[in-house]
Amino acid sequence: MICPKCECEYVDGIKVCSDCGIDLIPVDEFEGKLIHPKDWVIVYTGNDLIETEMLKANLTGAEIESIILSQKDRSYIYLGEVSPIKLLVKRKDADEALQIINDIFESKADDEE
Ligand SMILES: [Zn+2]
Repeated sequence: MICPKCECEYVDGIKVCSDCGIDLIPVDEFEGKLIHPKDWVIVYTGNDLIETEMLKANLTGAEIESIILSQKDRSYIYLGEVSPIKLLVKRKDADEALQIINDIFESKADDEE
């Protein structure tokens, strides 16, 4: 899925762009309109940098390269909202990364019971 406005690509399961707040569309609908084809896809969005860094550390442990993007890096103030944080991996690693992230959240939920 991809945001038709900022061209950020998201994995399946995420339906709204965390930057633009608009609905994502399937990539094939958008193919050919991309100005900058991207090698990175977003596998997680959240507001908790500590948690995102924990996920990144787990991906690194599985030898998956990842980067964290935060709107705090930008010069404008995001009115009334906590800055969303995004975790990105290379397209080829997306499925594996998503699996690892899901496993982490499932075991976390077990711990809290
Ligand atoms: Zn967007």
